[in-house]
Amino acid sequence: MKLDILAIGAHPDDVELGCGATIAKEVANGKKVGILDLTRGELGTRGTAETRKTEAADAAEILGVSVRENLGFADAFFVNDKSHQLEIIKILRKYQPEIVLCNAIDDRHIDHGKGSKLVSDACFLSGLIKIETALEDGVLQNQWRPKHVYHYIQWKNLEPDFVVDVSGFIEKKMDAVLAYKTQFYDATSKAPETPISSKNFTDSIIYRARDLGRLIGVEHAEGFNVERYAAVSSLFDLK
Ligand SMILES: [Zn+2]
Repeated sequence: MKLDILAIGAHPDDVELGCGATIAKEVANGKKVGILDLTRGELGTRGTAETRKTEAADAAEILGVSVRENLGFADAFFVNDKSHQLEIIKILRKYQPEIVLCNAIDDRHIDHGKGSKLVSDACFLSGLIKIETALEDGVLQNQWRPKHVYHYIQWKNLEPDFVVDVSGFIEKKMDAVLAYKTQFYDATSKAPETPISSKNFTDSIIYRARDLGRLIGVEHAEGFNVERYAAVSSLFDLK
């Protein structure tokens, strides 16, 4: 199956938090989108790898993505080395996405910046013909390099290089985020509090999207960073 967009996150819920509305909008536009989680989020303070798996499947269904995979890397301890890069390269060559979305270049959780660089490096290496990979069937895969790698902004208020107007899709994003019932604000929960379990954090997902939207004259927006200049064919391409 070929994908238009592959959204990759270090933990199940990163993609929903960072670019859930953009994904919902592109799916509504008829694009084929997939999600790849690098870890199972097994070191998360609240919930377990099992609850997170169920929640991730629910969120994927809400967003309407075509496929969701998990590489099972070690939460918090995965590294950017050859074996991890090769696992991601296999997925890139399998789905041949035009665009890859990945974690913020710099963020509070160490896996985000680390995962960001790992995915970015794998996207480059995946285009090298002499790196041979195969899936379980043993058939060699063709090289594939995505045209673009964009980093969604998540926890830190990084200055975006461009923003996507996601007006009309914030509700779907919130439904997908809140599918992670163990992770976010729940007044009845007895689980330990975390930086993302406060009501302010849940509210911030919406008020930050509203603020980005305000700055470009629409209701809601999500911000991204690029690794090279964002280019347009015409001045009139900008919204
Ligand atoms: Zn995360």
